[in-house]
Amino acid sequence: MAKDYYGILGVPRDATADDIKRAYRKLARQYHPDVNPDPDAQEKFKDINAAYEVLSDDQKRQIVDLGGDPLAPGGGGMGPGGAGGPFVGFQDIMDAFFGGTTARGPRPRVRPGADAIIRLDLELQETAFGVEAPLTVDTAVLCSTCSGAGTAPGTHPQTCDICHGKGEVQSVQRTFLGQVVSARPCSACQGYGTTIPHPCATCGGEGRVRTRRTLTVKIPAGVEDGMRIRLAQQGEVGPGGGQPGDLYVEIHERPHDVFARKGNDLHCKVTVPMTAAALGTRLTIKTLDTEEQVDVKAGTQPGATIRIKGRGVPHLRGTARGDLFVHLDVRTPTKLDADQERMLREFAKTRGEEMAELAKQGGFFNSLRNAFNGH
Ligand SMILES: [Zn+2]
Ligand SMILES: [Zn+2]
Repeated sequence: MAKDYYGILGVPRDATADDIKRAYRKLARQYHPDVNPDPDAQEKFKDINAAYEVLSDDQKRQIVDLGGDPLAPGGGGMGPGGAGGPFVGFQDIMDAFFGGTTARGPRPRVRPGADAIIRLDLELQETAFGVEAPLTVDTAVLCSTCSGAGTAPGTHPQTCDICHGKGEVQSVQRTFLGQVVSARPCSACQGYGTTIPHPCATCGGEGRVRTRRTLTVKIPAGVEDGMRIRLAQQGEVGPGGGQPGDLYVEIHERPHDVFARKGNDLHCKVTVPMTAAALGTRLTIKTLDTEEQVDVKAGTQPGATIRIKGRGVPHLRGTARGDLFVHLDVRTPTKLDADQERMLREFAKTRGEEMAELAKQGGFFNSLRNAFNGH
């Protein structure tokens, strides 16, 4: 009668290879004679190993599924209770206790490169309307001598003698669990599994060299201070000539002499004489890209603002533009000659605004009283 290998591991007949491995690891941890003193544990552990040996092997599992027993004498496999008992790889037992160590393997020589960032100072004119700017960047680039391989021309990497290409070396220690294998990166090949006996003279085996190059970046209209533009794969080439990272160009907008920018709007200040503010006038305003005639209405107050639509910064997306706000600074004359002063006093008298005269006579409160009394 064939043994119920599925029953021993407690898995259904349609269990996947992963299910079987998981069940085996769990039971092996439970019944390993080194950790389970129960005298029956040893027998149980043997059964578990036998079941795993059978079910983890496609051919043997097929025999089981056809009603046979691959471990029975004449069943097509090696018999149980032989010299070594059922054969389960040492690694499988170690994996049961220490998790998978087999998946590591050598680390690749070729690895992706890092991103790089560069600052680009631009004038307002350039951020507003876009520009093609030359950029000088220092990054690692592909070594042209070895094309990234790191080997001198005509030579090749060799499999590491110490780890035989595994990239790690195992050492065996005795512990309460029996022998424990620990793996560490091979120091002879730094874990690569290969060595480069004749490194490329240009890059020293790195597959990349650091160099300064100039490239042109197209800055779109409407970018703002602090924005970053990504240039795909213009960053650092990786070790072994690995795929380059991206290059980020960070925009810095220099302050402008005339215009202050807030988002897509611009602000500027224009000084108008008191008389122009009072009488009204027409001003010519130099915008970022045009000249505009604007009317200052008669009776304009200090701090008044004139909005010129569509003369701000173009939107980064779309065709709209921000506005230009002209802040009017009404300037009072500071130096009057005798004639001007006489005329201004005359003007004040006609408006009943002889405050200066009144203040001179009676001080501030007096002038207020007189103003209220209508004098
Ligand atoms: Zn090279
Ligand atoms: Zn090695």
